[in-house]
Amino acid sequence: MKILIVEDEPKTGAYVRQGLTEAGFVVDLARDGMDGLHLGLTEDYDLMVLDVMLPSLDGWHVLQAIRKAGKHLPVLFLTARDHVDDRVKGLELGADDYLVKPFAFSELLARVRTLLRRGKSKEPEVLRAADLELDLLRRRVTRGGRRIDLTAKEFALLELLARRQGEVLPRSLIASQVWDMNFDSDTNVIEVAVRRLRAKVDDDFEPKLIRTVRGMGYVLEAPECG
Ligand code: CA
Repeated sequence: MKILIVEDEPKTGAYVRQGLTEAGFVVDLARDGMDGLHLGLTEDYDLMVLDVMLPSLDGWHVLQAIRKAGKHLPVLFLTARDHVDDRVKGLELGADDYLVKPFAFSELLARVRTLLRRGKSKEPEVLRAADLELDLLRRRVTRGGRRIDLTAKEFALLELLARRQGEVLPRSLIASQVWDMNFDSDTNVIEVAVRRLRAKVDDDFEPKLIRTVRGMGYVLEAPECG
């Protein structure tokens, strides 16, 4: 089992590395966020112990980038600040557990073992935007609890938009991801599909979620509440 520690405080880093090594793990130690991110993206770890406050790139950004790259290894956050906000933020970003400094090594080891037993973090099974829900396992879509029937392509299109909520996705990207074709071949296909998708997902509902950004592409976005 291979563990990556990202920790800039030399004493804490050395202490955790030594303890985990003695417990039988193969351990790499990165001393700042950029190094940690690089190792996390290029090597294959079973778990990551990640400090929040780091030079060059903080733990939150490291975690975000790791998850965005599709890495689902469990991440244990180390935080010196015992604030609810930090914990919530860490968990929202995809951390699996957190430990408040200072901690006893036995506590860290117990958390590490629990996380490893639990295995890789699961990919989200349901994507949400406002009252729209995509159940990725059952390939089912509902809005406001009402079932919406989509074709396979419509589902793929909606899934792409929902996974990258708030991002304007160019037609070329949609074409390559959903239709596996070049942008030049037939752009009309995308417009027609988006129109059909909107008719099903947005026409009878408020707020409207799928928007055309002229000259750029499409975006799925739930307006901020309140
Ligand atoms: Ca630190």
